[in-house]
Amino acid sequence: MQDRTRFFIGGAWVTPVSVTRLDVENPATEEVIAEITLASRDDVDAAVAAAKAAGPAWAATPVAERIAILKRLLAVTEARLDDLAAVISAEMGAPISMARSDQAAVGTGHLEGFLEALETYAWSEGLPNGDRVVKEPVGVCALVTPWNWPLNQVTLKVLPALAAGCTCVLKPSELTPLSAMLYAELLDEAGVPPGVFNLINGTGPVAGATLSRHPGVRLISFTGSTRAGVEVAQAAAPTVKRVALELGGKSPNLIFADCGDALETRVRASVAECFLNTGQSCDAPTRMLVEARVYDRVCDIARTEAEATQVGDPSRPGDHIGPLASGVQWQRVQGHIACALADGARLLAGGEGIPDGQDRGHFARPTVFADVTPRMAIWRDEVFGPVLAITPFADEAEAIALANDTEYGLAAYVQTGDRARALRLCAALHAGMVHVNGQGLGWGSPFGGYGLSGKGREGGAHGLDEFVEIKTISLPDAWR
Ligand code: NAD
Repeated sequence: MQDRTRFFIGGAWVTPVSVTRLDVENPATEEVIAEITLASRDDVDAAVAAAKAAGPAWAATPVAERIAILKRLLAVTEARLDDLAAVISAEMGAPISMARSDQAAVGTGHLEGFLEALETYAWSEGLPNGDRVVKEPVGVCALVTPWNWPLNQVTLKVLPALAAGCTCVLKPSELTPLSAMLYAELLDEAGVPPGVFNLINGTGPVAGATLSRHPGVRLISFTGSTRAGVEVAQAAAPTVKRVALELGGKSPNLIFADCGDALETRVRASVAECFLNTGQSCDAPTRMLVEARVYDRVCDIARTEAEATQVGDPSRPGDHIGPLASGVQWQRVQGHIACALADGARLLAGGEGIPDGQDRGHFARPTVFADVTPRMAIWRDEVFGPVLAITPFADEAEAIALANDTEYGLAAYVQTGDRARALRLCAALHAGMVHVNGQGLGWGSPFGGYGLSGKGREGGAHGLDEFVEIKTISLPDAWR
């Protein structure tokens, strides 16, 4: 078992004030792989103080120097992708092949997106009225991240903070602290100065809430559940700090009969995307809406694809899915499946319990429900597990109405052979991102949602915008 009880504060691994410890579990084996410390309020204060002390010098660093450090970080991260993948796989159960190609690879992908955005980012611009707008770092940022895509969310927050000239305190999920601690080592190796990046571990109610309230913090960027996001915003309100929230989703995937010959491919890819990362993605296409005349066929394809989805040991290479990230998450997913059955959804594949052949680990069965209606909880609630809900629609108007019948608005997916229809739907769907025929976002594109899915955007230039203040300067005409 690794001793990971220290925090990275002021450029060194320091002994925390708190002596409260937490075991980190491998969700595939249920073995304890490390021990961490859960920060007290004093630990949070120490990390914020270090970030505050480092703030002025880092804010004054020329942008070119910050970019040079980020370029070194790119090389350092590339060299350590296998290590990052191994740690992520062990701490949250992502299968090792996918951990390398997706979970770890975002570490370089997002960085490339930010570096490209920095090439043209307007730090200063003259307005037509003669005034000048300059962008300045917000100040000390608190970054609170979840366990489902651990490095993804860490990089989407740490990188723009550093690029903008902010200093930061990262509190990763207490379930997945190890990848964040490895990333702290990479940042140090790349030459990020002491105090610019600080890391503490801890729980939401103590460390997360203390950061949200902290008067020394000027921005809190949070990713996780809508429940916790609302608490963060409420705790942040008295200090009027900036709040960026990336929360949950229940994203619709509209499947039209005009896919023609591509229908089977599009449905199979849609099911695989829903189950990617064992369904633990905020933007997963979890509500499949299907044109009535191909409904039975699509249900058959989805059932076959779910039954063919292998579940197994994440340390083994391959395209199978792994366990859920924790026993708590496994219990939650079971509760959602039981509720869907009780509500009368038709079970096509999977269901409650553990997949055949598994005798330990938090593995769940790839599950598909058909005939899901808007009155069922499975229509509305984010499951965060390998569970797909299918519903028929009669025509495009009904498809749009059903798709938009959600308080979330993170992503939407469209499968169609008709370009004009695709463009109409892109305009009509109430979501921060619309994917057509399986097309993924490019690095540097803004990620984020409408409604209860959050506020603010991550990635590229829009992600940088979250971390800067706008200052308007009015000079006398003769001095412009
Ligand atoms: P969570 O929201 O409780 O935890 C996410 C992060 O927030 C962790 O670092 C946690 O320590 C911290 N946190 C929790 N409560 C906090 C508070 N009051 N103040 C400040 N920080 C706080 O997520 P969870 O309980 O692990 O998962 C619950 C559900 O959240 C999941 O089933 C899923 O629906 C959703 N979720 C969404 C995302 C996403 O990417 N949008 C990620 C993880 C979980």
